[in-house]
Amino acid sequence: MKKIDITKILASYDPKNITIATVCSHSSLQIFNGAKKEGFKTLGIAVGKVKKFYDAFPLGKPDEFFTVDDYKDIPDRSAELQEKNVIVIPHGSFVEYLGPDNFLQLQLPTFGNRHVLMWESDREKERMWLEGAGIDMPQEIRNPHEIDCPVIVKYHGAKGGKGFFIAKTYEEFERRVEKDKPYSIQEFVMGTRYYLHYFYSPIQNNGYAMKKGSLQLMSMDRRDETTIDEVQRLGSIAELEELGIHPTFVVTGNIPIVMRESLLPEVFRMGEAVVEKSLELFGGLLGPFCLETVVTEDLKFKVFEISARIVAGTNPYISGSPYSEFIQPDLSTGRRIAQEIKFAVKHKQLNEILS
Ligand code: ATP
Repeated sequence: MKKIDITKILASYDPKNITIATVCSHSSLQIFNGAKKEGFKTLGIAVGKVKKFYDAFPLGKPDEFFTVDDYKDIPDRSAELQEKNVIVIPHGSFVEYLGPDNFLQLQLPTFGNRHVLMWESDREKERMWLEGAGIDMPQEIRNPHEIDCPVIVKYHGAKGGKGFFIAKTYEEFERRVEKDKPYSIQEFVMGTRYYLHYFYSPIQNNGYAMKKGSLQLMSMDRRDETTIDEVQRLGSIAELEELGIHPTFVVTGNIPIVMRESLLPEVFRMGEAVVEKSLELFGGLLGPFCLETVVTEDLKFKVFEISARIVAGTNPYISGSPYSEFIQPDLSTGRRIAQEIKFAVKHKQLNEILS
């Protein structure tokens, strides 16, 4: 991807007339709502046809829809979007369905650093980044014969935890694994899950001070995953597994949560370390990101994944969270993104937060 293209595109934009755009899915209602609150025009990229439910949410509905037949058509229609002074806000579904290559080549100014994708989508590189930052991760088991504790088996690229399974012994692993698909085996960390939503600004000093810019904690959630989170209504997992009923990890929603205040110093230490390492490795992780963690009974965090953009776990907090309320009332992550763009326009720093 050539940064120069983005600089050129931006040069053709009217900074007073920016449109904030994203694909109509995932966290789009929040992104549009936040952009509107900050006075931006909004555009929703609808794949297939415009979904009728947006009419039911006038404050989350974009000012304009832009319809494409398929995600893959978005790059070809970039010129039309450039004419509308569009800045794209990527979210999980946007990147996943567009595909990493198309996303990296998209000729549209995009919020955040697209290079992060290389480090986030490759589990080896992700581990190098996070462990390099001093983050504790679940142990990786390279040889299945060495399984001596509950493990979770993850297929590479299987989004939304599809096909993941838990095994407690080598025999159980052997019975269930699909060897034709690349996988990794990770210690199943016992504890409680917290998905931490941060916002890093390289251009504003209005939060937890970093070498450059500042870090905010916007909110946190717990994912509601089917069937693992409710399967015990039917019987114990062991009982069900004997009947061939295995729990799955498909995300269906998000539950708001707060944590013991005494854990917050560690939350900020981890966020800071991950950002500082990203600046060293690939020019930085900008804007919203999420550390997916398990807190163990001795109150230690294990981070099993990072998401380097807005996560759907921020959706319960359209009117602020128990953390963002201490930053500013009524502040969602979608609105915080719009504020960052507004600040960058005002101080002519768009190049520093877009790629
Ligand atoms: P996404 O990209 O949507 O975050 P994914 O497909 O990469 O998801 P993970 O987030 O790695 O999958 O894992 C899916 C779920 O499995 C987690 O939300 C969590 O409930 C559980 N999980 C993952 N790793 C571990 C672990 N090491 N210990 C305990 N539970 C885990």
